[in-house]
Amino acid sequence: MAVIALDLGGTRIKFGLVENGQLLASANVAVSSKSFAGAMPVIEAEIGKLLAETGQENIEGIGMAFPTIVDSDRMRLLYKYVKYNDANDLDLAGWAKEKWGTTLVMENDARAALVGEWQYGAGRATDNLVMVTIGTGVGSAALINGRLIKGSHYLAGNLGGHMAVNFDGVRCNCGNVGCLESEASSWALPELLKRQPGYAKSPFSEGEKPDFETVFRLANEGEHFAAAVRERSLEAWATGILNLVYAYDPERVVIGGGVMKSADVILPYLQNKINQAAWLPENAVEVVAAQQPDWAGVLGMAYLAGN
Ligand SMILES: [Zn+2]
Repeated sequence: MAVIALDLGGTRIKFGLVENGQLLASANVAVSSKSFAGAMPVIEAEIGKLLAETGQENIEGIGMAFPTIVDSDRMRLLYKYVKYNDANDLDLAGWAKEKWGTTLVMENDARAALVGEWQYGAGRATDNLVMVTIGTGVGSAALINGRLIKGSHYLAGNLGGHMAVNFDGVRCNCGNVGCLESEASSWALPELLKRQPGYAKSPFSEGEKPDFETVFRLANEGEHFAAAVRERSLEAWATGILNLVYAYDPERVVIGGGVMKSADVILPYLQNKINQAAWLPENAVEVVAAQQPDWAGVLGMAYLAGN
């Protein structure tokens, strides 16, 4: 039987009707409501469309991935997230039962994406996996011996973006200093560019867009300031990922996120760093690109909801 899976992002919700890992129908919808109660009518309507489109009447389960820390045993969001922070006040399990006659499973979105890659993407054929998503922020999740690790506060593996890579670094929005995320992510990049020596005469002070796509493009063209920023960012990611390798001892690290448009530069750099710097046998850890960049969260959530 099929399951319904949702991947709730900051501004959009992805929906999938999934059977045996196959996305039979999908939707990607902008949601303006900041509250979960406000989004419920949209969710009900979209699920109704997916069921009608595929002629399904019964579903085996519903899974929802949230962009915050999730207690997946009691189905609670543990950190207040700017959006949907009323979800804990609602009886979501009762809602799923009443509307669709099925059970609800909730999980963190990075864990759902890791499960999607593990079952249907770049993480196949290993049960020891770390996934890192480098985009607006840096997300992570870890699987050891085929089990998602969660810990006593459900954050094990999830906060790789807030492991410090520079104790002398910039302050992060989490309160710590020198996190991987505050040293090399899209939200932090505009300020990082300004702190880099030579900024005043760089293309970025003259109007080039302060994003990683531009940094990599200019660096490829041989522009020195961008090349230095690229090098610093690669080194930050490599340091953070090496920390995760030591923490979780994976066989493979899957990298996803917006910066992977430059995978041709990023993957060899990370692989080299791990080969040279890690206290591991040669080639013990493989660094690969995500294979399901758009739908890993939905596919992984469907897997969790169907098991
Ligand atoms: Zn942080």
